[in-house]
Amino acid sequence: LGQKITQALRKLNQATVIDEKVLNEILTEIASALLGADVNIKYVAKLRDAVKTIVTLQMNNAAVANIRKLIQSTVVQELTNMLQSENKPYEFKKGKPNVVMFVGLQGSGKTTTCTKFAYHYMRKGWRVGLVCADTFRAGAFEQLKMNAAKIKCPFFGHKKETDPVKIAQEGVNFFKEQKFEIIIVDTSGRHKQETALFEEMQQVQAAVNPDTALFVMDSSIGQACYDQALAFNKAIKVGSVIITKLDGHARGGGALSAVSATQSPIIFIGTGEHFDDLESFNASSFIKRLLGLGDIGGLVQTVKEAIPEDKQKKMVENIQKGEFSLRDMRDQFSSVLNMGPLNQVVSMIPGLSSNLIPKGREKESTARIKRFLCMMDSMTDEELDCTKPLVELRILRVARGSGTRPEEVAFLLEEHKKFAKMVAQFGKMNLNSQTDLKNL
Ligand code: GDP
Ligand code: MG
Repeated sequence: LGQKITQALRKLNQATVIDEKVLNEILTEIASALLGADVNIKYVAKLRDAVKTIVTLQMNNAAVANIRKLIQSTVVQELTNMLQSENKPYEFKKGKPNVVMFVGLQGSGKTTTCTKFAYHYMRKGWRVGLVCADTFRAGAFEQLKMNAAKIKCPFFGHKKETDPVKIAQEGVNFFKEQKFEIIIVDTSGRHKQETALFEEMQQVQAAVNPDTALFVMDSSIGQACYDQALAFNKAIKVGSVIITKLDGHARGGGALSAVSATQSPIIFIGTGEHFDDLESFNASSFIKRLLGLGDIGGLVQTVKEAIPEDKQKKMVENIQKGEFSLRDMRDQFSSVLNMGPLNQVVSMIPGLSSNLIPKGREKESTARIKRFLCMMDSMTDEELDCTKPLVELRILRVARGSGTRPEEVAFLLEEHKKFAKMVAQFGKMNLNSQTDLKNL
């Protein structure tokens, strides 16, 4: 999606005049890119009109380059607005039981997401319990029980019980008596949105009276997102949403549908099958990543979380200025390797992820990053700070010192160059987008 939009915007650069015809062409291309990312057809039309109105007003008295920025920032702004819900998510309160009921179709990722959710709050020090109220799917009990064991979370369920309402009630009561703070009820799904499912959901809801219902939706179902979210919200008032499987394709458009159909905020997104593949949701970062514009805010946040404090300040400053030395790259890589969320960091940098960390080949990528680190360990301070360029003789020396081949060192330097170039663009874009928004 990002690439298509960039292409469309590049066309604008080539045009010497922007008239209605050129604008329409660009808007058609952007619209088709958005549809390709599963943004609901209604919003695409709305967005198109909004951008057209704003840009038409400026068309005669602004330079081409400014119009390009204006289109870009308007698209970002409009999509971000669509992703923001007026309703706030339920806030967990300390010292009382908070009951969360997970709902969603079978296969949407409920059980996996329950576990990720539990893990997230356990790490923050909450007492969390998991209740398996899925009596429909064979193996549901074992699945959640095993997940719970992996994250060391207390679990309640009965292998033989067939009444989901009874189990849900017993489980919630059990954890309440034990003074648990977050009680998560995993419910069953069906392949389709059918009456039996919605009735079961309503009965479980009536029995356990949850503080909030969390709707889990699979982003890979495409345009069907809107109707599905609408149906669930009608059957049970959805309090917040988690969108899963956003790691596979960059087709995040379904998220917009979920927000608008349920009038509820997205709180997390699922980006993988592991229990720490759960990211807090931020509308503007999400849209920027969807559009491939890079996410300086998210990147800075990740640096803050992943990098030791003494090194943090300088790197955040550098990134914001649009600077990124080999030393920054080394610090980032080594911290990130320790923490694990390499994919998350890299996915914030468009153009880099597919190259450096191909999906499904994280192991190889980790090995490669480790080799990169060896090479950077063989560099001098001046080389790391990019005050001495790594000319051929130096490349040979680094290769010898790190037990790697000169081609590999050259490859690292190329990657760094790309990295640095993108950070430089972010730096600029960061400034531009702020000024653009002010001008609107
Ligand atoms: P449920 O039927 O709604 O409980 O769904 P499950 O939790 O059993 O998940 C169905 C499948 O989707 C499993 O294979 C999960 O590993 C997978 N899954 C869930 N969330 C994600 C995600 O965010 N990314 C990816 N790639 N797979 C996911
Ligand atoms: Mg399940």
